Amino acid sequence: MNYYSLNFNSKDVNFLEAVQKGLAPDRGLYFPKHIPKLDKSFFDELDQKNNTQIAFETILPFVGGVIPEIYLQQIVHDALSFDFPIVPLTNRIASLELFHGPTLAFKDVGARFMARCLAYANAQKSKKELTILVATSGDTGGAVADGFYKVEGIKVVILFPKGKVSLLQEKQLTTLGKNITALEVDGVFDDCQDMVKSAFIDPEIKNEVNLTSANSINIARWLAQMFYYFIGYKNRPNPNNKLVVSVPSGNFGNLCAGLMAKQMGLPIDHFIAATNINDSVPQFLETGDYHPKPSQPTLSNAMDVGDPSNFIRIQKLFNNDFFKLKKVVSGYSYTDADTLKALKTIYKNTGYIADPHGAVGYLGLNQFLENNNEDYSGLFLETAHPIKFSKSVESAIKTQLKVPEKLKELLKREKTSLPIKNYKELKSYLLDS
Ligand SMILES: *Cc1c(COP(=O)(O)O)cnc(C)c1O
Repeated sequence: MNYYSLNFNSKDVNFLEAVQKGLAPDRGLYFPKHIPKLDKSFFDELDQKNNTQIAFETILPFVGGVIPEIYLQQIVHDALSFDFPIVPLTNRIASLELFHGPTLAFKDVGARFMARCLAYANAQKSKKELTILVATSGDTGGAVADGFYKVEGIKVVILFPKGKVSLLQEKQLTTLGKNITALEVDGVFDDCQDMVKSAFIDPEIKNEVNLTSANSINIARWLAQMFYYFIGYKNRPNPNNKLVVSVPSGNFGNLCAGLMAKQMGLPIDHFIAATNINDSVPQFLETGDYHPKPSQPTLSNAMDVGDPSNFIRIQKLFNNDFFKLKKVVSGYSYTDADTLKALKTIYKNTGYIADPHGAVGYLGLNQFLENNNEDYSGLFLETAHPIKFSKSVESAIKTQLKVPEKLKELLKREKTSLPIKNYKELKSYLLDS
């Protein structure tokens, strides 16, 4: 399988080249040359397959022979070394929990898969060390740090805005040490992002440092997110009903992976793009016009994206045909007040504790089921553990959350970070270290 740039101005590359580059040289996103279809036998035998087999068989055509099967099997096995439980809340609504990985958010799946693919690529050519440079507003940095921790030949440099991430997120970024360095930027997330962009186009750095990025546009992060749609389908509570999946969305990588799984043959009938007030995509689905906007802060802050990077890939999956897309995806958006109310209602009616992102997914699913009296049942993706957003969750449900054991350990660890004021300081750090 080869990948081309959606800006059409770079040459085609194979899977590992696309993973190593992240973005194509013409700044376009990589997209597979064709979409593989799974055999009927794959679905007939799905019940007998474990998670590793499901992941291996679905990713194999995308990898296209550049990683030997025996390694690929090990990579998906390691990347998925935790559970993906389904918790039914009503007879038609269930939560598909994606937060049982090490940093308690779904991004662990893509980050762990990507880290292992890069480690394989690096081991093949004894080139100089690879440096992953990433800016984070919270969740991405933790998942990347953990995913790449102690991976041979790879160094991770994370920029985070001083005082703008939660205590838990800061601990996840700053306490690992070894090949992970956290740079604490005196500024906001956009300043971190700008510095990262400057580094990627700086010719001196290009010459000296073997730099790559690990953000959600990387195909390894995107495609690995298909795995749990197949797992969720296999374990769905109401197999006789049509399945609808609601995806709380920000940069739209997660929904885009679900849509790819459907194109490969996975019988999910419908998808919900559920957002907070950063609603460029639901607005588009309503009007047919796409107007990216500056992002606005909300309680579900991992979804505060005004111009989602993966939107172009979603359109491509439907050959830019608005009506085809609209048949498969419905969009709904919610305010913080709606989100808090949902957290409270879910807890009161079912005893389940959702996080603000999952609550947005729940709201979208609920609304779709109310509007469609056909035989639909749904899953909403619960993308983070509620403890990561304990302040808003506790205020909504008026109950204190229990801190999971693995976090107690984390909270005791010592923070180490390097303060950084401007691009010049980042540059000398990258060139000197
Ligand atoms: C990143 C994130 C999202 C948004 O996912 P996208 O793929 O960017 O749409 C939703 N929930 C949580 C908890 C996240 O960390």
